[in-house]
Amino acid sequence: MFTLIIKEYVQLYNDLGYRLSARLATKGETHERDGGFGVMMSNAHIAVGVASALALAQTGSVESCVAAVIGGSIGGIMADCDITPSRAHKDALRGRLIVAGIAVVAMLVDSRTDLGVCSYLVGHLGLPLVAGLFLFVALTFLGAHTDHRSFTHSLVAMAGFCYAVYLVCEPLLLYFAVGYASHLVLDVTNKQPIRLFWPLRAGVSLKLCTARGLANKIVCVAGIAVAALLLWYRLLPLLPV
Ligand SMILES: [Zn+2]
Repeated sequence: MFTLIIKEYVQLYNDLGYRLSARLATKGETHERDGGFGVMMSNAHIAVGVASALALAQTGSVESCVAAVIGGSIGGIMADCDITPSRAHKDALRGRLIVAGIAVVAMLVDSRTDLGVCSYLVGHLGLPLVAGLFLFVALTFLGAHTDHRSFTHSLVAMAGFCYAVYLVCEPLLLYFAVGYASHLVLDVTNKQPIRLFWPLRAGVSLKLCTARGLANKIVCVAGIAVAALLLWYRLLPLLPV
């Protein structure tokens, strides 16, 4: 079963690479259809996820800030693993590329510290880490094969993903969890309901805004501004005077 899951996961990311090529080949195309799902866009989710995580980071700790940026950004878009990137859903692809870029830069910074995520992973190689990775992959696989805004937008899925992150890298747990929670909170404000209490069928929606309207832009800009301010504030004690 695990072999099957891994095969599907690899296929999923092969598809992602293919979609990227297709996207680059049609760069001139300006017609966007991502909003058809009625979701907050990925950029808003990432910005708010990182800002929420940085609010809980330790002041004066590079390791904590790096963990917040990694955990918050991944947690911020993880619920949308139920959208397969495609030409019709470019936003999903864009979001994953942004998070991948953020994670790479953050890990480069982290590798220069002594008590960061990299050090933790090296010191905790073992069965729990492997089990956590399998669980994370299995939940992603399951999410990719469920309806949008159903399983992955539920408290059950959030708990499952958080447990997987706990097994893989405990220092990321808090930041991942708050990033994931921020995604659900933002999506609840949307007109299209999310199945927060899956497997119950009832959806939850505050019907406050639509996907790609003014609210999305405001949330995105505010998220980036707050994240930048928080990062500056957290690292301020370390800056040379
Ligand atoms: Zn969502």
